[in-house]
Amino acid sequence: MGGVGEEHWAAAVRLLREAVEHDRRILLVCHVNPDGDALGSLLAVGQALTALGGRVQATFPGPLELPEPLAGLPGQHLLVAEEAVGVPDVIVTLDAASEERVGRFAALLDGVPSVVLDHHASYTGFGGIPIVDPGAAATAVLAAELIERLGVPFDRDIAYCLYVGIITDTGSFRYDLTTPAVHALAAKLLATGLRPGEISRRVFDTRPFGAVRLYGDVLSRAVLEPEHRLVWTTATLADLERHGQPAYVLEGLIDGIRCAAEADVACLLKQIADERWSVSMRSRGGTDVSRVAIALGGGGHRLAAGFTGTGAADEVIGRIRAELGR
Ligand code: 5GP
Ligand code: MN
Repeated sequence: MGGVGEEHWAAAVRLLREAVEHDRRILLVCHVNPDGDALGSLLAVGQALTALGGRVQATFPGPLELPEPLAGLPGQHLLVAEEAVGVPDVIVTLDAASEERVGRFAALLDGVPSVVLDHHASYTGFGGIPIVDPGAAATAVLAAELIERLGVPFDRDIAYCLYVGIITDTGSFRYDLTTPAVHALAAKLLATGLRPGEISRRVFDTRPFGAVRLYGDVLSRAVLEPEHRLVWTTATLADLERHGQPAYVLEGLIDGIRCAAEADVACLLKQIADERWSVSMRSRGGTDVSRVAIALGGGGHRLAAGFTGTGAADEVIGRIRAELGR
């Protein structure tokens, strides 16, 4: 906590203002497999710098496809496939707590001035100027402050991106970091003419029917381990294939199991390859799941964290159990 130091804000604004002024190439990078906060922050900052006259490319590691719920985000004309990214003069990373999260772009951070915009407790200290506040509800909150400090007014498109970031990372204003300031910012964003019902229907509440059936399968296999106060389940590639679904439909599925009152920690193991799992963890408050995630090679926040696990599902859960027992 403690917020971002005034000297860091001043340095970041100076760096970006000068980059725009001298027509330097600015590269914005968010984390691999980007969620609404990563993409929303990326495209909001990209559009703001463009409005100032900046030369901007925006990207993230991996294929440049956006999952359907995020396909309505404005500013996508700024997106460039990672192979097509030119040599930058300045880099801004967004919503990435560690270098691994920005993939090959981490290598560019040596020797190029950079700003790190992030809100993870697990921030490793990588990169240049840290605009990092674990007390911020979303990276989009920091992106909004950066945009205001750059003197760019929120237009509807920038506001849409920031709003998606905020609702993604606050669970639609439900989590503890949802401060009065977050609501005040949301009010400002909505005042640009956003339609919150439409946005949340698109982002959270519209999935193919096959996804509904898939959720049924995954939830019906959930295991409760009262002695560990743990509830967990798996979503396999076979599940996705059987229901003809893309992997993005699994985002948010953790919410369906974490309400189990008998458990404190909920885990969803999403298979990404043979013996390889993207693990989502949530805590109801009694456990710091970022500690568990960091111990197992990942990161995140106290109540929401994740890592990539290898081996059989039972082995991955065994490792989580062991960490929970520490
Ligand atoms: P989710 O479960 O929604 O994918 O992620 C929850 C939180 O854990 C996010 O803040 C995300 O940044 C973090 N997280 C998820 N997976 C990983 C991972 O593989 N590595 C790291 N470092 N953090 C992760
Ligand atoms: Mn985030």
